[in-house]
Order: sequence, then C-alpha cells, then structure tokens
Amino acid sequence: MSVTREMFDDVMVPNYNPAAFIPVKGEGSRVWDQAGREYVDFAGGIAVNCLGHCHPAMVNALTEQGQKLWHLSNVLTNEPAIRLAKKLTDATFADRVYFANSGAEANEAALKLARRWALEKHGEDKQQIIAFQKGFHGRTFFTVTVGGQAAYSDGFGPKPGAIEHVEFNDLSSLEAVMSAKTCAVMIEPLQGEGGVVPGDKAFLKGVRELCDKHQALLIFDEVQTGFGRTGTLYAYEQSGVTPDILSTAKALGGGFPIGAMLTTADIAAHLKPGTHGSTYGGNPLACAVSEAVMDVVNTPDVLNGVKQREQLFRDALHAINEKYHVFSEVRGQGLLLGAALNDTYKGKSREFLLAAAEHGLMVLIAGADVVRFTPSLIIPEHDIAEGMQRFEQAVAQVVASHA
Ligand SMILES: *Cc1c(COP(=O)(O)O)cnc(C)c1O
Repeated sequence: MSVTREMFDDVMVPNYNPAAFIPVKGEGSRVWDQAGREYVDFAGGIAVNCLGHCHPAMVNALTEQGQKLWHLSNVLTNEPAIRLAKKLTDATFADRVYFANSGAEANEAALKLARRWALEKHGEDKQQIIAFQKGFHGRTFFTVTVGGQAAYSDGFGPKPGAIEHVEFNDLSSLEAVMSAKTCAVMIEPLQGEGGVVPGDKAFLKGVRELCDKHQALLIFDEVQTGFGRTGTLYAYEQSGVTPDILSTAKALGGGFPIGAMLTTADIAAHLKPGTHGSTYGGNPLACAVSEAVMDVVNTPDVLNGVKQREQLFRDALHAINEKYHVFSEVRGQGLLLGAALNDTYKGKSREFLLAAAEHGLMVLIAGADVVRFTPSLIIPEHDIAEGMQRFEQAVAQVVASHA
C-alpha cells in the first residue's frame, strides 16, 4: 500500500497537523523522507531521541530482548525492569521507581501518590495542588488540568478540583496561595512547552523552602529536562534543589515509549498494593532499551558533550542573529534551547519551522514566539554545522518574505 500525507486526513483523528513530508528512515541525526530527501534533525522527536535514530546500543538491546521476552504484565516482574530501577535509584535522590508508558502517566502517578500521601499522613483537608502558568504536564485529564494552559483542559466537562495556578519565577505569587492545605507543588525546573523558560535558581530554592514550611511535596516534572538533556542526568542536580517526587519520560526511552516516577522510600510506601497500576508499565522491551540508553547517556563523555554542543548551538544562533536580527534572546540549558523571536517576528515561529523544513532541517517551536532545539545529545559536530547552515537559509527566507 502506498501511503501519502493526504491519507492522514482520511484515516486519522484530526488532533494533529503533521508536516507535508513523511520520514521513512533515520540514522544518527539525519532523517530521510519517502522521496529520499535528507533532513538534519534538530528536533529529536521532541526531546526524545537522545541518541539520535537507530543507535546501535538501542537496536541491540531491542533485538536481544525481543528474542527473549516481550511482555508479562505486573502479575510478574522482569529482569530489565528491576535492573533499570536499580540504575535509576543509584543515580538519583530516589529509592523507589514506578514505571509507566509516557510522561503524562508518570505525572498522573506522581499526583495520585501526592494526594494519597497527604490523605494518609495529614488528613482530607490537605488536597491543594499548585502548579504554574504555562506549565505542561501531559494530556490525561488530571495532568492537563494541573498544566498551566486552561485552553488545553477546557471543553471536557468537570475538571479535577483543588488545583491552583500561580506565576512561574514569582515566589510571592506562590507564597500567597500556599498553606497547610497544600498537598504538592508540581513544577518543570525549566519550562519546555511553555517557551523554554528556565526556573531561576533562587526561585526554585524558594519553592523548596515553601514546600518544607507547609509540609507539601515538591514534584519536579523532568519529562523534558531529564535524562541528560540539560547536561546532567537530571536538571535538579544543577538547581541545588532536591524534589520529593520526579517524573521522567521522553529521552528515558530514547524513542521507545516509557515513563517513570521516582521518589523516596517513605513517600512510595503510600502506594500500597492495588492503589495504582498499568498493564504495560515496566514492559521488558521498554526497560531493556531504556537501560541501554542510560548506559550511554549517564557517562561524563556524553553529559560533558551536551555542554560543548550547547555552546556550538548558541554560537551559531548568535552569528545568525548578528546578520538577520530575528531573536531577542537564546535561552535554555544544555540541548533544550529556545530562540525567542523579537518584536518584529513575534507570533511567527511556525514560519521559521516551515522554512527550515523546506531547507532540509527539522526544528521545533515552543508556542508562537520561540523556535526550539532539542537534538540528539550526541549529534555530531558536522551535523550541527550543516543544520545551522540550513537554518540560516531558512531565517534569510523568512526575513526576505517580510522585507
Ligand atoms: C512532553 C511532556 C509531558 C507529557 O509527556 P507524554 O509522554 O506526551 O505524555 C509532560 N511533562 C512535560 C514537561 C513534557 O515536556
């Protein structure tokens, strides 16, 4: 059967609006479409493909595990899940792991755990969950309601309650709504979807202090920032703040669907047998792949390489900006970078994305005002150079079209 982009509209629910080309093959940071056209990949499947496409370590782990055991359910446990959980707890603040299949599910587990912890430890008045405007935590009804864009959660009937939103990077707005009734604060240490906005160090420290003061749990959503993306395994390591619960997904599987919630033994104890679960969570294929990804990512070589590549991206973007004057700033951390468009180009991020694709480059946007870059953590230097040449052509085209 020959497949075309037009068929998407005939057979798929219209909640997405994918690009005109259909990729069929990827290797490292290059992708080829049906017509054999080659693209440099600065998008990385939205911060997922942390080792690029078809990394040999991942292909080996998948094919090896694929010949042994695919699925058991959680009536039984399996070796890859336990090995991965051991590695995650050894490498982080956490003592316990819950496996899910996505970021939203990891966050759903985090929020349900926080509510259960508060109920059992402090009673039924401690329910309030506070999150931040423009935050993003996934699309289940609980997580999308905790997310800070009402437009995403409106129109589906009654929402889960006791959820409040305050301004990111504004400690006083958080302080004003916190009390003994606060159960948990959920935050991205660096907002991804909301425009690539880093949390100030002093702000994050203040959030931790307020959580301690009111005996509320601090939940870091590291679905986008985690697994090497910012140059450490998790971004909290650089923030000087340790959360009580952390959610991780996206790069965790490097392209295989998996999510996880990490927490301490004390807090984890409140998810007793039967309180929560997932059929696929901890699936052997997913965990085997994730373990292989972690063995590569959690090394000084790769993590330091992220910092070096960040500099290459920043230098190239600044050079383009010197010439074309399109950005007000380049922000972010590691290989989660956002080029914020200046007043002249505000609202036009999609034009840059489309022009980039025309020139053989995949980039992302984060809202209408920011062009976002989340490439492979091991993207070769020459692919960065080649991709930036293409991006410069795309920028020149957008600038010319508005001249
Ligand atoms: C992508 C993302 C999610 C949702 O992850 P899914 O795997 O799409 O469910 C949650 N939180 C953050 C910060 C994300 O970037």
